[in-house]
Amino acid sequence: MRKPIQDEFTHLPVSRQRKYQLRMQRDGRCTECGAPSAGASRCLKHLVLARERQRAKFALRDRYYNTLSYRLEAEAKKKAALKRKQKARRAAAAKTTGKAAKATARKGR
Ligand SMILES: [Zn+2]
Repeated sequence: MRKPIQDEFTHLPVSRQRKYQLRMQRDGRCTECGAPSAGASRCLKHLVLARERQRAKFALRDRYYNTLSYRLEAEAKKKAALKRKQKARRAAAAKTTGKAAKATARKGR
């Protein structure tokens, strides 16, 4: 059997799940999946899931666009779009250089 973790949470009168959450929070990781957290108690994916879960549960209609999850979401979207653009540009460049190579090969004949 593995040695039990000995830390400041070991003897707290709380569940194993709560201890896991407290340890993850202490180490700057998501309390649900253990991935690096995004300046909060959860990673971006679980921040968004929690936000939408709360919205559904309490039938909330307002959206606070300046909160962390929205800001991080917008940032991630921007990054993904940039990545997509770069990939497309690289593919286009490869295509044109491929054509150029074929053209020079034809000239050589
Ligand atoms: Zn997570």
